[in-house]
This record gives sequence, C-alpha cells and structure tokens, in this order.
Amino acid sequence: MNRESKQCQNCHQEFWIEPEDFSFYEKIKVPPPTFCPECRAKRRLIQWNEHNLFRKKSFLDGQELFSTYPEDSSIKVYSHDYWWSDKWDPMQYGRDYDFKRPFFEQFRDLFYDVPWSVQSVRNMVNSDYCNQANGFKNCYLCFNGGYGENCMYGVAFRDVKDSLDFHAAISCELIYECYQLGKCFKTFFSKEIHDSNNVWFMNDCTNCSNCFGCINLRHKQYYIFNTQYTKDEYEKKIKEFNLGSYKSLMEIKDRFEDFKIKFPVKYIHSNHSVNCSGDYVYWSKNARYCYEVGVVEDSKFIQNVTAGVKDCYDYSNWGDNVELMYESISCGDKQKNIKFCFDCWPACQNLEYCANCHSSSDLFGCVGLSKKQYCVFNRQYTQSEYESLVSKIKEHMDKMPYTNSKGVIYKYGEFIPSEFSPLAYNETKAQDYHPLDKNSAIKNGYNWKDVNRREFEISISSDDLPDNIKDATDSILKEIISCQKCKRAYRIIGAELELYRRFNLPLPRLCHECRYSERLKSRNPHKLWKRQCQCSGQKSENGIYQNNAKHSHGEKKCPNEFETSYSPDRLEIVYCENCYNSEVA
Ligand SMILES: [Zn+2]
Ligand SMILES: [Zn+2]
Ligand SMILES: [Zn+2]
Ligand SMILES: [Zn+2]
Repeated sequence: MNRESKQCQNCHQEFWIEPEDFSFYEKIKVPPPTFCPECRAKRRLIQWNEHNLFRKKSFLDGQELFSTYPEDSSIKVYSHDYWWSDKWDPMQYGRDYDFKRPFFEQFRDLFYDVPWSVQSVRNMVNSDYCNQANGFKNCYLCFNGGYGENCMYGVAFRDVKDSLDFHAAISCELIYECYQLGKCFKTFFSKEIHDSNNVWFMNDCTNCSNCFGCINLRHKQYYIFNTQYTKDEYEKKIKEFNLGSYKSLMEIKDRFEDFKIKFPVKYIHSNHSVNCSGDYVYWSKNARYCYEVGVVEDSKFIQNVTAGVKDCYDYSNWGDNVELMYESISCGDKQKNIKFCFDCWPACQNLEYCANCHSSSDLFGCVGLSKKQYCVFNRQYTQSEYESLVSKIKEHMDKMPYTNSKGVIYKYGEFIPSEFSPLAYNETKAQDYHPLDKNSAIKNGYNWKDVNRREFEISISSDDLPDNIKDATDSILKEIISCQKCKRAYRIIGAELELYRRFNLPLPRLCHECRYSERLKSRNPHKLWKRQCQCSGQKSENGIYQNNAKHSHGEKKCPNEFETSYSPDRLEIVYCENCYNSEVA
C-alpha cells in the first residue's frame, strides 16, 4: 500500500498514513484514523487528570473525598475501599444494546451511570493525597508513579525514595528540582542525568559524581562549570556558592542559564535507542513519534509510557509489558489487544471501548467491571452471543455514527469523544502537553474551567521568608505562605523542611503547583520541526561554541537534517547525533 494523505476531521490539517501504519491497522482490524496524530493525542489526554486532586462527595453517603474528578463533574464516585468491595455490583448497571441510538451516546450514559473509584491507586501506605499510583509509602502530593517512598511533589516516576519536586525519574534517591533522571543519587536542579551522584545544576550528563553547573559530561568528577578541579578545590568552591541562601541560589541559577546555551544539544533527548523519533526516548527501538518513553519497540505516536511496550500505536501513559495497545490511555500492566480504552488494568485482554475495567478479557463497551469475560454494556453473554453481538454493533456504529456539534463523525475506530470527558481541558494532561488558553480551547470545542480554589488567609509573604535555611525555625510549618508567582497560599510540611535543612537549601518561594509548571516549561514540547544541524565545521553556526574534535563533514557546514523538538526560534545550538557525539562521547 502507498502512503496516503488525509485531512484531519478535527483540525482540518493534512496528515499522512504510511504503508507501515496501514499494516498495523490491518493487523489489529481497525480502520485508518480520521484525526491527525496530535488531535488523537489530545482526545485521549483530555480523559485523564494526572496531578489535580479535587474534593468530591461520595455518591454513596456524601462523605467528602479527594478525587480525580471535581465536585461539579457529573461522574459518580465511591471511596476506594467501597468501590473495590463486594458491597455493590457494576453488572446491575447492565443494559441491552439499543440499535436505535448511536453507540457512543449509549456508552456515555453507562460511563456516567456506573460509579468510579475516587482514585486510581493500589497498595498505598500513608499516602492519601496521591493518585494514579501503585505502591506508595509515606508520599505526599505525588502522582502517576509506582513504588515511591518518602516523596513529595513528584510526578511520573518509579522507584524513587526521599525526594522532592521532581518529574520523570526512575530508580533515584534524594533528588530535588529535577526532570528526566535515571539511577541518580543526590541530584539537584538538573535535567537528563543518568547514573550520577552528588551533582548540582547539570544538563545531559551521565556517570558523573561531585559535579556542579556542567553540560554534556560523561564519566567525570570534581567539575565546576565544565572545568576540572581537585577534590579539595572542588569542596572549597562548593561551600563558597553558599546555596543555603535564596539570593545566592538565584544568582547561581541565572549563571547556569547563561552558561548552558553556550554548548550544543543533541537534536533529540535520547540514549540507548535505535531508529527512534520524537523526544525523551530511552532504551527503545523503532519508536517513532514517541515522547517521554522508555523500553518501547516497534511503536508509534506514544506518550509517557515505559517498561516494555511492543507493537503499540496511539497509546498514552503507563506500559509495563503491554502489546497491541491502540488508542488507549492509562491502561497497562501485562495487557494485550486493548483498543479505545481508558483506565483499564491489570492483565486485561481483548477489550474495546471499556473504561475502568480490571483483570478482564473480551469486553466491549463496559464500565467498572472486574474479572469478567464476554460482556457488552455490563451484561453477560456466552462467547458465541458475544462475538455475534460485537460484530453487529461495529456495523451499526458505521451505519448510525455519532456526530458531535462540530460535525465530527464518530464511527467504529474513533476514541471516546472529547466532549464526553468529565474534565475540562485545563484539568487534564492535554493542557500540559498541548497548552491552550481559554479562548482557543473553547473555540476548539473543548471544555474549560476557571480555577476556583479554596482560598486561605495568608500569614506570611514568600518575600519575607528567611533568606538562609539556617534561619528557618520550625515555626515556618505553621505559616500560610503566599506564592511569589500566583499569590495563592502554600505550606511547608515537616518532612519537606527536614530535607531542605539536610541539603542546606533555602525554602521555596513558589507554591508546589507553580514549581510543577516551571518544571514543565523547562521541558521541550511534544512537537517536531524539520531543521538542519547547526555545526558549521569548526564552530557552531552562531559562533558561540568552538568544536573540540574533527567532524566527519570536515570544515564544511554539516548537511544533516532531522526532526527536533527545539523550535527554530530557540537559542540552543542544535547538533545532529554525529556532531554531538564527536564533541561529547
Ligand atoms: Zn488534527
Ligand atoms: Zn503559585
Ligand atoms: Zn551535524
Ligand atoms: Zn559537525
């Protein structure tokens, strides 16, 4: 089959379907998509709230709970323990398929009729203010992770201990203000660091210890701003930085910002990967247009998954030994052949259009089921009844599609329509990856919610916090502090103060939400631009960086082109893999 151009039903832009894509769609028996990859990603992400917790009353007894869903969302929630108990039966909500109404409308009814668990968590110990999590112990405001202990304000991580304010970390301990770390110990204010310890203000370094303010280092120790020191000199210099003071810390931050743009960056954040595109791709093979992924093979258009993902398309969040996942989000843990599903885990197989189902197989259009097989709309069938009904429904979906107010047609093969989401665009992961302002969200047909947080009386302004951590007494734990940026209230909790003292770091001046959004801003977007390598032979094109090594293209400008998440207007010097490796490896 040849590649084929299509017009996206949603944004009306052109997109391409490649021969390999057609083979995948044939293999899993779905029609080719009618939305472009970005609109498909947004449509999935708009179902998913990764890191907001709302107060919401239990549908059972009105008890106030902390939930994925806000109070005014019409979704019904039960407490976690009640939902998972035998005290209610989701099969009671079972209904016949109505061939007089579009499938999607009937699915929406069931989605809102069946109660949901207030949070999506497993095996939690003393970690009430967390969500989308498995195996957390003593964690606070941590989201989307597995196996965290004594962590605070962490998002998207696995196997992290005693850490604070981090995003995307695997197997780390004692990290603070970091993004994209693997196997790091005592790492602070750093991005894309692997197998390192005791490092501060570092970008893209591997196997380093006792380094400060460095870029692109491999196997180094006692470096400060990319200059080698002796152990004694290093230790003396670090003391002089006086990082316990907020004022000094800010000066160092500014200095590092100026310093880091003097070095080339690789066009893609990636290592141990072959034939991959997108960004933040680790330990992967043939992972194309994938973002923030690890251990992915032969897959395309995927975001935020890890630990064994094979032969999947259009799949967001999770992973863990999965295969043939398509147009699904927040589904994972030993699963196979999952299509158009949301929040289904673990060990499910052959599910289509299911939400919040667990340990089940061969379900179509079901919500809230556990350990079931051969069900449609939460009603039990025999295997042969199930198979014939499902094929009739698929035909019916094409004969009587659902059409939304924008004229978008939903036949078999489309994910759940965005307008059915119980969340507003800006309450979901869609806003993090594809940020929109209120007007453009509404213009694009997405729901929007003005933030209406409970306000607290401020007892101290962040400007009046002690400059140095050594002057912060325990009384700070009683204060309600106003955030320097959003002016809303935040607090410092005991375990947090302990870590600031232990590492001699000043109290943060921003609330945890502003700290989170600052970290997100430092990450590249899920978008690619076609660019040419900025190596001009002996120097970078802008003359700022002097190459140390001879490159294969000699003294001429490097002809290599690539797709990169660094937009052309950015200041970074962007090198192709060859030029970057000549300088760094
Ligand atoms: Zn589109
Ligand atoms: Zn704030
Ligand atoms: Zn190059
Ligand atoms: Zn070069």
